[in-house]
Amino acid sequence: MPWRSSRTPYHIWLSEIILQQTRVDQGTPYFLRFIERFPTVESLSQASLDDVLQMWEGLGYYSRARNLHKAAQCIVEKWQGHIPSAYADLLTIPGIGPYTAAAISSIAFGQAHAVVDGNVIRVLSRLMAFSKDVSLHSSKTHLQTIATLLLNPREPGNYNESLMELGALVCSPNKPDCAQCPVHSFCAGYNEGNPTQYPVKRPSKKTPHYDIVVGIIEDQLGRIFVQKRPVEAMLGGLWEFPGGKKEALEELTETCRREVLEETGMNVKVGQHIASIKHAYSHFRITLHAFECTHESSTAPASPLEWEWAVHEQLQAYAFPKANRDLINILLERAAGTPKATSH
Ligand code: SF4
Repeated sequence: MPWRSSRTPYHIWLSEIILQQTRVDQGTPYFLRFIERFPTVESLSQASLDDVLQMWEGLGYYSRARNLHKAAQCIVEKWQGHIPSAYADLLTIPGIGPYTAAAISSIAFGQAHAVVDGNVIRVLSRLMAFSKDVSLHSSKTHLQTIATLLLNPREPGNYNESLMELGALVCSPNKPDCAQCPVHSFCAGYNEGNPTQYPVKRPSKKTPHYDIVVGIIEDQLGRIFVQKRPVEAMLGGLWEFPGGKKEALEELTETCRREVLEETGMNVKVGQHIASIKHAYSHFRITLHAFECTHESSTAPASPLEWEWAVHEQLQAYAFPKANRDLINILLERAAGTPKATSH
């Protein structure tokens, strides 16, 4: 992953933020688009949050994008646009925790701070046949101590990157390539014969599922009602169609009518089902059901949120959560006269 090892502190910071919760092949096009559009910390700090969210659309975990924007402004204000080299200073920047601070300070500035991410946890757990639950605080502290002891202080950046790459490319979660691994001779997990039993994790709870229903309300000019989520909420700053969670025993159409009324003050007649789209977030799954809605009364929208009657260009240009974006693609295909299946 050559872009990850770029020696520009800004690039290293950006790549480390993008790669949290994201695979390299997914993150690479985002990184390249970001540095083209925002080549410096200053340019990122001067962008609108809408622009940053729009560039981030599809990558998920949108708090990363909001923090990136806030952090750029903080770096310009406090360090004249230069990313600070001190680990303690890095920790004061929005969105930078111990992992990212260690990555930036070691890779960009050659300081001896050990990085412990998911890849490193997997490699170290297997190397030591570490039998404790790695989600425990005591296990994390222990692994951080081991990582720090193993760190090569003369080349901390290269060392950290090597360990992360070993985890990403060789010591993969389900199929580690132990035969090709440069450390297999002293890997306890491998020598025991079953390295994939590490890292030990508590069994995860069943992921909850919610039915979310949204109304596609068109005005007489063919524009569609959209509103912007509050910045402090989940998916904050992104646009969405009005709607919400189905209650037990409620019909989907009734949820649609009720939620639209509650959120926008508009009484709507719920019409044809447009699509049902499944999407998984980190801690829950949803099925997003969309219905055509006709605005029955002459009441003007009364959403407390920022809202718009959006034309197609706006639907394409604004940042929407992934399931809403899939829905927009279906709406645009319908508008172009090439309807697709109503669920996927
Ligand atoms: Fe991972 Fe296998 Fe290498 Fe051990 S020998 S670190 S289990 S790839």
